[in-house]
Amino acid sequence: MQVPFHGRLVRGWVLGPTGEIPPRTLSVKKAVSPVRFFDPDMLWLARWVSERYVAPLAAVLTRLSPPRVASEEPRAVDEPGAAESAATQRVGGGGASALTQPCHTSRTRTAAPNSPPASVLADYRSSSDLLGALRSADGSGAFVVRPAPEDEVAVAVEAVSECLASGRRAVVIVPEATPVPTTAAAIAQAFGERVALFLGGSKRARYRMWLAIGAGCVDVVVGTRSAVFAPIGNLGLTIVSRESHPAHREDRAPYYHVRDVALARARRSGAVCLLEAMCPSSEATAMDMPQITPAARRWPPVEVVRPGPEGRAPRLVRALRDARRAFLFSPLPGYGIAAFCRACGAPAACAACGGALRSEEGAVRCVVCEAPGRCATCGASDFGLRRGGAERVEEWASGIASVPVHRLAADDAPRLPREGEIVVGGPDDVRDFGPGGLDLVAVLDADLADRRPGLSARERALTVWMEAIGWARPNGRAIVQASRANDAAVQSLVQGKPERFHADERARRADAGFPVGAAVFRVGGPHGLERDLARLEPTTMLVSSAEDQTVCLLALEPGRVPEFGRAIRDLAARDRVARVEAEPHL
Ligand SMILES: [Zn+2]
Ligand SMILES: [Zn+2]
Repeated sequence: MQVPFHGRLVRGWVLGPTGEIPPRTLSVKKAVSPVRFFDPDMLWLARWVSERYVAPLAAVLTRLSPPRVASEEPRAVDEPGAAESAATQRVGGGGASALTQPCHTSRTRTAAPNSPPASVLADYRSSSDLLGALRSADGSGAFVVRPAPEDEVAVAVEAVSECLASGRRAVVIVPEATPVPTTAAAIAQAFGERVALFLGGSKRARYRMWLAIGAGCVDVVVGTRSAVFAPIGNLGLTIVSRESHPAHREDRAPYYHVRDVALARARRSGAVCLLEAMCPSSEATAMDMPQITPAARRWPPVEVVRPGPEGRAPRLVRALRDARRAFLFSPLPGYGIAAFCRACGAPAACAACGGALRSEEGAVRCVVCEAPGRCATCGASDFGLRRGGAERVEEWASGIASVPVHRLAADDAPRLPREGEIVVGGPDDVRDFGPGGLDLVAVLDADLADRRPGLSARERALTVWMEAIGWARPNGRAIVQASRANDAAVQSLVQGKPERFHADERARRADAGFPVGAAVFRVGGPHGLERDLARLEPTTMLVSSAEDQTVCLLALEPGRVPEFGRAIRDLAARDRVARVEAEPHL
């Protein structure tokens, strides 16, 4: 609806009736849309997000639905012709929003497979509570599932299947839209027209699908972040696929993390929440949820070798000769880093900013400012290189392997190696492709993970390594080049389970002042901000000031967030706080 406010028309939502009428109220000028954008449960969830992430409720309400396309909206029932549509569904539970919305798909149920596939989860440790909750019409609870690599997709399909069989509906949140994750494709394939794939698409198509979901036309929604707010009723299950993936965190205001919103929504709806990942996040493992894991080791043999020159450890060279289908994980792009200027002999550095220069796709550029590579001392552009990076790996591996070696360039679509092919790729190429069946996966430059900035860099590295190494199931093996074989992350990689890493990480994060499970906020404002925030007694506060801005990164005990939120709103009203970012990537 629209309301005149300070001389202009402002849009708003009807939240519900109230007994407390303030002395000054404005009258509604116009009802904008006949669509009901949220029900009481979704309003509860929006309030939860607003409080947990210290975001204005109006901003969160905007996020519950995709942008409107008015011409897609259904007509009110009292309009002539509206009620005549063939397949019509009532939106919402009656009341003001009595609308009709045709389902675009006929509701033919996909026939159950003749012989249902054998249960994957039945063979998992501690799976009986999960299966019991899924099979009961009012089962609930939160679980972490750490699938064997070749079961990742099957676990999600089985959980959805059990949920539908008990007469409830499911939401599956995947981290990426393109290429379509195999988990998403497999669910669409298994349940056909009962599934809405809410992944990208035009504004019109998204809004149309969102209306169809709200009208009850589908039983499963599969989508990226915003699918956690899908207006699906009778929710029995939410799955967060690849739970530790950084894309599950919304990085525009209002900020939120899919994991926590999914858990809150499932609690509210009395549904099951399943966090699925080969390497779950530290946050998920600290929450004391049952962990469901394969009964026996289902992980490739992993050999740790010391890095050889340019990554060519002798063990890896021998393995590459025999490999028929392999993936070489090379986290650094390019062919090498400029070491010295060939014209004047000075150590190489960017003339514009002093940064390091990298040779990539035939051109030397600054890794910091991306300026074309010019010597900071004499301006020349010819450099002696220290070779290393995915392009160089492609080159030397091609000279050794008995099958073609192909490097995935920045504009290549990520994919698994074909039969008789070795693929060189980086972190962005490790996606949910389903079971890999490779005979070799090699992780080069594992030492680099420690040098990456950020508290969560190691966890991200381990997650990607595990997802890549999983492709060596069921019959392949893995080689990891690392200087310190007893490093907790490397050991977790060898064992195929992240417990040791998570224990190490908990200690490291606590030492750094950002304990796992703490609520973290980045707050910006004018000078003196740190004094205002110190009064809130955060567990940790790091302060940085530049020009007329102060930025504070602070950690709080989760129970103190509501109090913090009230204080921040009060400071913001007095212009003492300019912006708040919740759960920044650390
Ligand atoms: Zn530069
Ligand atoms: Zn020079």
